[in-house]
Amino acid sequence: MNGISLAIVGATGAVGRKFLEVIEERNVPISKLVLFASNHSAGKVIKFKGLEYLVLELNEENLIDNKVSYALFSAGANVSKTFAPLFVANGTIVIDNSSAWRMDETVPLVVPEVNPGDAYGHQGIIANPNCSTIQAVVALKPIHDIFPIKRVVISTYQAVSGAGQAGIADLVNATTNKFPYPINGNVIPHIDVFLADGNTKEEDKMIREMRKIMHLPHLKVSATAVRVPVYNGHSESINVEFEKDYQLDQIRAALAQAPGIIVKDNPTYNDYPMPVFASGHDEVFVGRLRNDASLEHGINMFVVADNIRKGAATNAVQILELLVQEIR
Ligand code: NAP
Repeated sequence: MNGISLAIVGATGAVGRKFLEVIEERNVPISKLVLFASNHSAGKVIKFKGLEYLVLELNEENLIDNKVSYALFSAGANVSKTFAPLFVANGTIVIDNSSAWRMDETVPLVVPEVNPGDAYGHQGIIANPNCSTIQAVVALKPIHDIFPIKRVVISTYQAVSGAGQAGIADLVNATTNKFPYPINGNVIPHIDVFLADGNTKEEDKMIREMRKIMHLPHLKVSATAVRVPVYNGHSESINVEFEKDYQLDQIRAALAQAPGIIVKDNPTYNDYPMPVFASGHDEVFVGRLRNDASLEHGINMFVVADNIRKGAATNAVQILELLVQEIR
């Protein structure tokens, strides 16, 4: 196979640029590449594998004139809502990074380490989950496979890069253009809008998406999402309650063997996951594994991953690889 034809929508953004980096690193075979962004970026030049590509304005005419087999979307939910169906109608399979299609019953929501088979049931669109959801389910799946999980309580410590270029700028420049309060020297327990039940939309996404990806529609999940002054890499404290008794050693062994996970858990040597280790890597780092004595059957763990890589670009490119393998 000579390569696939691929469009990137949102090519100038934090995630869009990371798509190109990850595609090059993983040597995904590309025969034709089309880069789309808003009209502000039309005419900009982006380099990929030594060649220069002109950024095109995303509009119906340009997408029809530049037909591709696959498109990776990362330009926000509104753009995905409008344009993903137009790409599909033009014969393109869309892998979408926004929240637009994730809970649509006809759209698979996929983390390749957890539910790769779901990808093949697509009807043109496959959704990439929220960054906080992805790293949590990668860590929870191998545990649930040996000891069924009853309830999960997650508290997040999310980096500013999760809010795109504007979020990074607020930390660099001590501004409040993206966040409601200064993020410098602060933590903000508010990501996305508040919903009627008191959860934020970010918390709600984690709850619903985890259930869908793990095929556990009744899993009890409680989430608190917090923005912290870290440039890149989301951290999560996860409390897991099991249906029955469990063995911590077996959990540790299952995590060590699971795809996409690095166990970093040796407290004697201050060895535990942190954003400074995870940033720039594709794996999910798991550590601080310990029994929770306040529960009959429960553990605590700390889970860290690069939110732009595994939380966005790498996961989407892995989904693309699943589809490309299928046609190879
Ligand atoms: P970003 O840095 O702000 O980039 C946004 C991209 O979308 C830019 O390329 C922008 O183009 C493009 N865009 C905006 N309006 C457009 C329009 N009307 N037509 C075409 N392109 C348009 O944001 P990001 O962090 O890359 O995030 C993008 C998406 O990925 C969001 O849906 C976000 O929720 C999702 N996501 C982000 C993360 C993360 O950790 N950052 C993780 C998971 C998912 P211009 O440069 O021309 O404005």
